[in-house]
Amino acid sequence: MDYPKESSIILPLAIVITLSSFVQSLPEGIKSFDIFSEITTDPRATSLFATDFGNLSKSTPGAVFYPSSPNDIATVIRYSYTSPKPFTISQRGAGHSTNGQTFVPDGVLIDMSALGRNHVDCRITVTNGPIPYVDAGGEQLWIDVLNATLKHGLMPRVLIDYLYATVGGTLSNAGISGRAFWHGPQISNVYELDVITGTGETLTCSREMKADLFYAALGGLGQFGVITRARIALEPAQKRARWVRLFYTDVELLMSDQEKLISMENNVPVFDFVEGIIICSVPQISAIRGSYNFSDSDIAKLTKLVAENNGPVYLIDAVAYYDDTTAPSLDQNINILLEELHYLPGFEFRTDLPLLNFLNRLYYIQLKQTPLGLWYVPHPWLDLFVPKSKVLEFDSRIFKSILNGSTTAGTILIFPMNRTKWDDEMSAVTPNEEVFYVISLLWSAVANDSNSLVDLNNKVFSICEDYSLGCKQYLPHFTNQEEWQKQFGNKWTRFVSRKKKYDPKAILSPGQNIFTPLE
Ligand code: FAD
Repeated sequence: MDYPKESSIILPLAIVITLSSFVQSLPEGIKSFDIFSEITTDPRATSLFATDFGNLSKSTPGAVFYPSSPNDIATVIRYSYTSPKPFTISQRGAGHSTNGQTFVPDGVLIDMSALGRNHVDCRITVTNGPIPYVDAGGEQLWIDVLNATLKHGLMPRVLIDYLYATVGGTLSNAGISGRAFWHGPQISNVYELDVITGTGETLTCSREMKADLFYAALGGLGQFGVITRARIALEPAQKRARWVRLFYTDVELLMSDQEKLISMENNVPVFDFVEGIIICSVPQISAIRGSYNFSDSDIAKLTKLVAENNGPVYLIDAVAYYDDTTAPSLDQNINILLEELHYLPGFEFRTDLPLLNFLNRLYYIQLKQTPLGLWYVPHPWLDLFVPKSKVLEFDSRIFKSILNGSTTAGTILIFPMNRTKWDDEMSAVTPNEEVFYVISLLWSAVANDSNSLVDLNNKVFSICEDYSLGCKQYLPHFTNQEEWQKQFGNKWTRFVSRKKKYDPKAILSPGQNIFTPLE
């Protein structure tokens, strides 16, 4: 079946517009009780949501809905679900998707941020007991969640590298970073959710209660409902971050050292956070400068290394979080560990900064890039999970071949994760091996035409497919169901049956292009 044509949503939108102008004439207090006053088709409003962080395509929503409570969201979804001509609805968090995942051309876009407006205090509640947690609205930004928890000396166990995405937006994917090797992705650190399903029903779910909805929604790409609250695991907050950078020219040594650092054999690893970066050419050094305070002589040394090396240069970012009690033994522990690693002699760098500055490091880059017009350029990104056994082949077919010497602006990430920290019941998809690598091509189309970078990404993914590298896309983007089926593999049947149960008319999050809405 096709998406509803424009005419099929004229009825509800016509009602909306009529009611909207009607309620506008009513006194303020009454207006706030009427959800229809929260919906607009005004192009000045809808055009603000016509693109996303990827800035690769445009699609204006039919209407924008500014809910003032979760109940309002339930009302609109129920309205669509029970209508003879249902309309599609997209829950948009901070719009940091890169491929139109929040687009809803013929339907209603929920601006989730409206829920949190003036409600930050009551929509983030910290409980500091034996098992500390925070209840956060799905619309809340991670930076606000972090700031609220820090007031109690606590922090979420896993944050992503950029804190201006929403709780609902990252939990709909997985939420990964150099911290996930230890505690798993963000979705592995959730105790409970409130979800408004595609029938407009509000359900609380957890591993013990309505578990199939809980597992479906985590990594569920917005397909099963709107997450309006998440109960998230916390841990004691540390004060500072000791950030070590180690350089390599041999990918096998990089991998064996990264895997040593993420090994949970000793239960409490020295480093709390382990990521990595690939540098293909001298111009790409600028990507590693942004968040790390290298001296000019360090940069000169690195420039020489990259220029003279016949192939990519790799680095490990290893960060230890600490406070006053752990500070005295920190350097000794780091030194002992570094002696066992195989980085290039003389290519170890250390810096130290307040933990919040480390966690929020991308924001400082955003602050620098925005006035230069570099932050909102198109971002053709390709994020892959590559099985450990195929990383060397990936490296030789991609980094030592089609990306050899590439000067494209952006950051290329490479770091391993432990699959045991992921829960297979959840919708998120990983390769089948115990250790798999995140390899992310995070291009910024500064000098390049964005289409050529999209083509490049397609070529990289085709190579993965042609040589059966067993890669899975993270933050996936596909345009037909056959590709989605391949991405989900043996999780597909369950994904479809959960969709039929929780969003039977396929109303929600149509921008993912997985299902076709039913009338
Ligand atoms: P949106 O783009 O608004 O929405 C994404 C999807 O989630 C849509 O399908 C939408 O319908 C759905 N959705 C949104 N809110 C809800 C909700 N409340 N309930 C149900 N579904 C919902 N990701 C990582 O894992 N690790 C990183 O380190 C990382 N770094 C990033 C750095 C930058 C600069 C950027 C731009 C992105 C980064 N991402 C990272 C990706 C980011 O986590 C995802 O794009 C995420 O979806 C963004 O959240 P959002 O609130 O902007 O979601």
